[in-house]
Amino acid sequence: MIKSINPYTGKLIAQYEAYDETTVMHMIEKGSNSFLAWRKTGVHERCELIKGVGDHLLKKKDAYARLMSLEMGKPVKQAIAEIEKCAWLCDYYSDNAPGFLKDKEVITDAAMSYVAYEPLGVVLAVMPWNYPFWQVFRFAVPTLLAGNTCLLKHASNVMGCAEEIQKIFIDCGFPEGTFQNLVIGSDKVEMVLEHPKVRAVSLTGSEAAGKAVAAIAGKNIKSSLLELGGSNATIILKDADLKEALNTVINARYQNTGQSCIAAKRLLVDKHIADEFIDRFLEEVKKLRSGDPLDEETYIGVLAREELAEELEDQMNRSITAGATILCGGDRKRAYFEPTVLKTNDPTVAVMQEETFGPLMCVCVFDGIEEAIELSNQTNFGLGVSIFTQDIERIKSYIPRFEEGAVFVNELVKSDPRLPFGGVKNSGYGRELGLEGIRSFVNVKTVYIK
Ligand code: NDP
Repeated sequence: MIKSINPYTGKLIAQYEAYDETTVMHMIEKGSNSFLAWRKTGVHERCELIKGVGDHLLKKKDAYARLMSLEMGKPVKQAIAEIEKCAWLCDYYSDNAPGFLKDKEVITDAAMSYVAYEPLGVVLAVMPWNYPFWQVFRFAVPTLLAGNTCLLKHASNVMGCAEEIQKIFIDCGFPEGTFQNLVIGSDKVEMVLEHPKVRAVSLTGSEAAGKAVAAIAGKNIKSSLLELGGSNATIILKDADLKEALNTVINARYQNTGQSCIAAKRLLVDKHIADEFIDRFLEEVKKLRSGDPLDEETYIGVLAREELAEELEDQMNRSITAGATILCGGDRKRAYFEPTVLKTNDPTVAVMQEETFGPLMCVCVFDGIEEAIELSNQTNFGLGVSIFTQDIERIKSYIPRFEEGAVFVNELVKSDPRLPFGGVKNSGYGRELGLEGIRSFVNVKTVYIK
């Protein structure tokens, strides 16, 4: 049984019987048969269906938001914003997919030569629980528009969301088999990905899950896209607008109760403004309102599972043992973790090296931009960095030095349907969103006619 447990109350919400092998095989066949018809539909027809999904999401956003809050503890106001963002994604891609997928003429010595973007077939998505709707839509919308069919293996703790998402596509008129939710645990992913009719996989999650799934894809010569963890730095240079930076950094670390791959996990502050900025930052952190995820006033909910809060506590304790000091917070009660700030000058402690997936910020003071860049680059991750400064011309010359998939100046690192999203180093490879995202699961076909 796959259980969905409310992390705030500890109560069982629902349980789902995992599909057996025969059912899974049947669903793969269905996805493959459906692909043969789906690929022949015109892109404009597919766009109309996706537009309908966007409208549907907006109509039912309260219900979907509530379900996310119940299953993984996300504050409901932030859950509503997540559904609205999914609707924006649907609008963006339905407006732009025809242009992104249009044949591209290339002048050569042929009478005619061009590049065509054709679908691959059935694509598997292994998805996490932290943005239970957004992560799935970010994958599914461009993948379906490109003419593929999708199989979802969602995180086990948000199976209710997974079932609802499948229902949305059915209710909005998608042909049977174009989007299917597999009610399976991670132990069955290998079997699915090894099936010859499953052509590619997209995974968002931990490094461990990424390594395991990419190895299976590699062994079977299937394309894979990995969107893994991060330990983003936020750098406050001495000429930053501190008031602007303050509000943004609070959201960058603590929204979604800190459970985001692109959250600001390390706050690097120039020594000239460190005392003032850190004091003001602590004041704001102490004001953050914790509580019932279903209460609209709540900003900090609970972590999605109790053991995730235990892991965060272990990272905090190991860092303190290694010399970090605690500036505020530090308490844990079951899945709740108090908004916490640690300070260290040692870049090797756990919270400076590992991904911290919860409301825990680590502050470190630097002396000059060269040291800031070194600190920023010193983890194995490379998802994004944000830098606060008023000297835009100067910072532009440093951007190539950051080993990251994204550099944001005077803004938190965020995903935007119009811009590619993904990492380097252990944060993964491949890109979602934007033009690059819709071309992730296509056959880039060269056509040459003499
Ligand atoms: P996981 O990475 O384990 O889970 C993400 C997805 O991968 C789930 O669907 C999970 O299935 C699946 N999965 C896990 N292991 C395998 C495997 N060996 N083969 C195939 N599929 C697999 O995340 P956790 O929930 O365990 O969270 C642990 C840590 O991962 C977090 O603390 C955070 O650091 C990081 N994380 C990063 C995310 C991101 O956005 N980059 C999102 C979520 C977590 P199942 O649920 O059935 O195990």
